[in-house]
Amino acid sequence: MTNRRTLVAANWKMNGSIEGSRVLAEALIDGISAETPAEVAVCPSFVYLSQLSEQFKNTSIKLGAQNVSHLDEGAYTGEVAASMLVDFGCEYVIVGHSERRMHYHETDSCVAEKFSATQINGMTPILCIGELLEERESNSTEEVIARQLDAVIDKATINAFDNAVIAYEPVWAIGTGKTATPEQAQDVHQFIRLRLARHDRAIADGIRVLYGGSVKADNASQLFEMADIDGGLIGGASLVAKDFLDICHAVRK
Ligand code: PEP
Repeated sequence: MTNRRTLVAANWKMNGSIEGSRVLAEALIDGISAETPAEVAVCPSFVYLSQLSEQFKNTSIKLGAQNVSHLDEGAYTGEVAASMLVDFGCEYVIVGHSERRMHYHETDSCVAEKFSATQINGMTPILCIGELLEERESNSTEEVIARQLDAVIDKATINAFDNAVIAYEPVWAIGTGKTATPEQAQDVHQFIRLRLARHDRAIADGIRVLYGGSVKADNASQLFEMADIDGGLIGGASLVAKDFLDICHAVRK
């Protein structure tokens, strides 16, 4: 059996302040130790990366970004290139979050380009995929997941998934308090792995597939116990230090 290290990643979204981020990061530094069973990453807003890269220096907490440009450089006002994120010590980049797909009209092919830009610059993409409520209700979940995954496989090739993380985030569960049941999540995680295995069995076995969508301290351990769930992408609960730390400590050893 492949030994996949559990990853718990915080998506702070557009929240916080300089002082609030500093205090939250300090609390995480105090609460994460060599005994913490999960690898822990924090993805703040771009503007706090500088401060957090200083705070996380010499700790085991990894830094990530919530978005990246698919372009390298140039006249693209307001965009942030992957090479700039590397300058701040980012190791992870969330790509294709449903909020970006929904509010900023990111298409599957745009997400695939961001995935590649992240990797070309030596960072690990956390590729978010997931279905809308109406897609689940019309039994199209697998079709949607396959389409979102195939767009990236087609552009980046299956080999690129050797250095990637996937986050299955059913859109109906994000920020709604409605978590997928462990069984619902496990079914989709298994489907994701099987889809990748059609191309490369070893990559499918080795990749970490996180669950995201209203994960809280009291439901994390049941989710993380499932065979194909390798951690979580945490939004709301990552803004409260105790809640996030409890989730980090809820993972199987
Ligand atoms: C997310 O933003 O990726 C997320 C899963 O949010 P929440 O935990 O608040 O549902």
